Amino acid sequence: MDKAEEVEYDLDEQDHAWLELVNKQRQEEGMGAVSYDDLEWIIDLLEKLWFDLDIVKADPAGPISTEDVPCDVCNDAECDNTNAIVFCDGCNLAVHQDCYGVPYIPEGQWLCRRCMLAPGMPVSCIFCPNTGGAFKQTTTNKWAHLLCALWIPEVGIQNHVYMEPIEVSTMIPRSRWKLVCSICKVKRGACIQCHKTTCFTAFHVTCARRSGLSMTNRTLDPNAIRAFCRRHSPMVSFTCF
Ligand SMILES: [Zn+2]
Ligand SMILES: [Zn+2]
Ligand SMILES: [Zn+2]
Ligand SMILES: [Zn+2]
Ligand SMILES: [Zn+2]
Repeated sequence: MDKAEEVEYDLDEQDHAWLELVNKQRQEEGMGAVSYDDLEWIIDLLEKLWFDLDIVKADPAGPISTEDVPCDVCNDAECDNTNAIVFCDGCNLAVHQDCYGVPYIPEGQWLCRRCMLAPGMPVSCIFCPNTGGAFKQTTTNKWAHLLCALWIPEVGIQNHVYMEPIEVSTMIPRSRWKLVCSICKVKRGACIQCHKTTCFTAFHVTCARRSGLSMTNRTLDPNAIRAFCRRHSPMVSFTCF
């Protein structure tokens, strides 16, 4: 086989320098020198083998795009093989398998609940005035953000594998429905309040997320659901004092 014909790799200065070092060593050990052509052929072969590997071919844009888009539920972009970020083919929603309850990624397309059950129809969250995001149905046949449901202490999820339906119980105090969001100023749905006990600042969960208020990572510690208003945000006080 004529090696020179098929080789697409050309040695650069660094390769030359490295080869000279190797050959010097080989000479000292009584071995023959490796030729430039041999090295070019080997690197070329390795590059072609690497290119043929399935992991590279499968989805060249995959790891890059998921790294940049955070999960709509936990706001984290990190993922692994057992808890990947899946994208809805209808609305491009990005969610972790565990966060949205997708135990198996289906072959072909995947649709979030909203795109599957109410395609093209506007749905609104019973807890906040914001549209878009990870929706699930409630036990009352309405819609709510999974994010809102997870952050309002009295709201539960019936099936934690599928993360649905959202259980709207009578446990939610009436006062919660009366709070006015300090961010969007809309008195609709149910707000949460600043974790500082002396502070009563209220906000919708989605408003807090969108305006970048300090919120603990619920996925890391489900019991530590703490959100702070801008004044009491741990990060802000750190930079102030
Ligand atoms: Zn997540
Ligand atoms: Zn969708
Ligand atoms: Zn909501
Ligand atoms: Zn709001
Ligand atoms: Zn506060």
